[in-house]
Amino acid sequence: MSVPKALQQEVVVLRRQIEEHNYLYYGLDQPEITDEQYDQLLRRLLQLEKQYPQLITPDSPSQRVAGQVQSGLKSVQHLSPMLSLGNAFNRGELLDFDRRVQAVLAGQVVEYVVELKIDGLAVSLVYEAGILKHGVTRGDGVAGEDITLNLKTIGSIPLKLRQLVAVNNNIPATLEVRGEIYMAKKVFEQLNTKRQEAKQPLFANPRNAAAGSARQLDAKITAARQLDIFIYGTGQLSPPAQTVVVNNHFDHLQYLKALGFRVNANIKVFKDIAAVITYLETWQNKRFDLPYSIDGLVIKVNSLQQQQQLGFTAKNPRWAIAYKFPAEKAISKIEAIKINVGRTGVLTPTAHLTPVTVAGSVVSRAVLHNEDIIKKKDLKIGDTVVIHKAGDIIPEVVAVLLDKRNSSEQDFKFPEKCPECATPVQRQEGEVAIRCSNTACPARNREGIFHFVSRGAMDIEGLGPAVVTQLLQAGLIRDAADLYSLKFDDLINLERWGDKSVQNLLAAIVASKKRALNQLVFALGIRHVGQTAAKKLAEHYGSLSNLRQTNATKLITIPEIGDKMAVSITDWFAQENNNDFLDRLIAAGINTNSIEVKNKQQKLAGLVFVLTGTLANTNRLAAQEAIENHGGRVISNVSKKTSYVVAGKNPGSKYEKAQKLGVKILNEEQFEKLLKL
Ligand code: NAD
Repeated sequence: MSVPKALQQEVVVLRRQIEEHNYLYYGLDQPEITDEQYDQLLRRLLQLEKQYPQLITPDSPSQRVAGQVQSGLKSVQHLSPMLSLGNAFNRGELLDFDRRVQAVLAGQVVEYVVELKIDGLAVSLVYEAGILKHGVTRGDGVAGEDITLNLKTIGSIPLKLRQLVAVNNNIPATLEVRGEIYMAKKVFEQLNTKRQEAKQPLFANPRNAAAGSARQLDAKITAARQLDIFIYGTGQLSPPAQTVVVNNHFDHLQYLKALGFRVNANIKVFKDIAAVITYLETWQNKRFDLPYSIDGLVIKVNSLQQQQQLGFTAKNPRWAIAYKFPAEKAISKIEAIKINVGRTGVLTPTAHLTPVTVAGSVVSRAVLHNEDIIKKKDLKIGDTVVIHKAGDIIPEVVAVLLDKRNSSEQDFKFPEKCPECATPVQRQEGEVAIRCSNTACPARNREGIFHFVSRGAMDIEGLGPAVVTQLLQAGLIRDAADLYSLKFDDLINLERWGDKSVQNLLAAIVASKKRALNQLVFALGIRHVGQTAAKKLAEHYGSLSNLRQTNATKLITIPEIGDKMAVSITDWFAQENNNDFLDRLIAAGINTNSIEVKNKQQKLAGLVFVLTGTLANTNRLAAQEAIENHGGRVISNVSKKTSYVVAGKNPGSKYEKAQKLGVKILNEEQFEKLLKL
C-alpha cells in the first residue's frame, strides 16, 4: 500500500515534534506541553507506523527509549538496558495486552502483579558485593548520567545492602536495581512557592522537579530538595534471581526489601486481567490521597520464568504495561465570579469555586482572564464545571456541564464601573481587556506598590503584599514614595511587628534607594514597559531627568521601543500625579542618575557572552547585569564571535553549538571567578 504524501509529511512533522518535546522533557526537565498532549502525538505516530510499516525507521521515536545523556554529567553504561513501558489508556488496550501475553504463553496460567506507577525519574543503582557503586539516570536506555553523589544524599538509598551485616550472608555479587526518584507533593509545593518568591521559573509538576533536582552538578542542591525513592525491579542480578532467591516478581520485591530497599507497599497479585481492571478503577480517586504523584499503575506478569519467555521489544518489556490515568480533572461549582483590579487598571475576573482537589492540591479559584473567555465558555454563576490544572499547576475551567443546569444559574454581568473606585470602565478597540481608567484607583495603587517593591523592581526584602496592605490600611502610606518616610515609631505599634523586624524592614527600604536606574524605571509600572525595555531606557537616557524630558519621536528611535510603548511612556510622564510621585522619590534620595553600580570596572569590555542552563547561585537576569556592569555584552545566539558561553545546569543546544564552534565554555564557578578577577 503506497503512503499518501500528506501522511508521509505528517510522520516527519510528528517525529520532529516528539524529538523536540523529548528534549524539553528529558533533557531540560521543562516540558512545554502536557503529558496527555505528548501521548496523543506519540499515539498518532504509532498508528501511522502500524498502518504503513514501511514508514518505520530505526531512529523513529517510536523505536527508541527517549532521553539522552546531558553534557556536564559523566555517562555510564547500564549493565542491562533500561527500557520504557508500553502504555494502555483503557480497558480494551489492557485486554489486548493480556491477549498478546496469552498468545506467547499458550495455555499457561498467568498471574499479574499491579504496582503504582510513581511519577518521577527512573534510576538504576548498581551494587557490587553489597556496596553502592553507581547511581545512573535512564538516559537513552543504554547509557545514563552518573548521579551517584546526588543519589547518596537520599537517605532511603542504602549505601550498603542490609544482609551484609546479617549472619546468613546472602549478598549478590552484582545487583542492579531500578527505581523511581520522586518528590513528595508537599515538598514540591514548598519548592515552587520559594521559586515563585525568588522569581525563578516554576517546575511544571513533581516529576520535573524531581528530575531537575536529581540531575544537579552540585549534590548540595539535590540534598536540599528532599527527594525519595521507591525500588520496583532489577536489571542485572548475578547469580540470577530464580536460582538464588525467588521465582516471581512479588517475592522478588520482598527480597529487595529485605536487602534494605524502599519498596512501595501497594503491590497486589491477581489471577487474571479482569480482576486487574476492577482493581485499577479503585485507584482513579484514591491516588489523590497519596503524598506523592502517580500517573498510573504498572501491570507485570508475575512469574520470572514467564517474563523471560516473553522477552522485550527494542523499547519495552513484553511482560509489563503501564496503565495511564486520564489527565486529572475534577467537578466543581462556580460560587461567584469576582473582579480583581491590577496595577495597569485591567479588571480580571476570577471564578471562586467550591474547593476541590485536583492533581494533589485543593483548588478554589481559577482565573478567567477576560469577558470574552466567560462568554466563549458560556459560564454562569452557579454552573457545575469541569476543572483541570494546565501544565499540572494552573487551575483552569475547562467546560460547563450543561445538563447540570437547573435555571438557578445567573449570568455574570461584567461591571460597568470599577469595583474599587466606581470609575466607569473602558474597553479599548482591538483589546480584550477592560480597564479602570482612574489612575488614582486604590486597587491600581495597591497593586502598583506590590509591583514597585517586588524583585526585579526596587526589591525591598520583607515587604510582600500582606505588609503593604497592612501599611495602607493603617494609613501609613498612600503610595510607594511614602515608604521612604516611614519611621520606627510608625511601625512598632502595628500588630505582629517587633524591634528586629521593624529595623530590618527600614534597612531594606533604605537599601532600595541604591537600586539601578533600570530597576527604578521598571518599578514605576508604566504600561508595556517590562524589565528589558526599562533597561534599554536606562541605558539610552542615563538618568531619570533625561527620560522625563523625552518625547515619543525620540523614544521610537530606540531599538525595541515601539509606538505603543512610546505613547504609554510619554503619557505616564505627562501626568501630574506621576511627576509629584517622582519628585517625592527624588527628595527621598533615590538613585536616579545612572545604571552603573558603584566601583564599576570595565574589565569585560568588548567581551560577548551567551548564557545557557540554570545557574545555581544566581539567575539569568542577575548574571546578565553582572556582565554588563563590567562592560561586557550578553546576546542570545552563539556564534564564532562569542567570547564565552556560561553554562549552568542542564544547558541547552547553545552548549553544543559552542563546543562545535570551539567557543570557550565557563561553568558557574569559573564565571564567578572571572567576575571577581
Ligand atoms: P513512562 O513514564 O510512560 O513509563 C516507564 C517508566 O515508568 C519507567 O521508566 C519507570 O521510570 C516508571 N515507573 C514508575 N513506577 C514504576 C513501577 N512500579 N514499575 C516499573 N516502572 C515504573 O515512560 P517514559 O518513557 O519514562 O516516559 C514517557 C512518558 O513521559 C510519556 O508517556 C509522557 O507521558 C511523558 N513525556 C512527556 C513529555 C512532555 O513534553 N510532556 C515528553 C516526553 C515524555
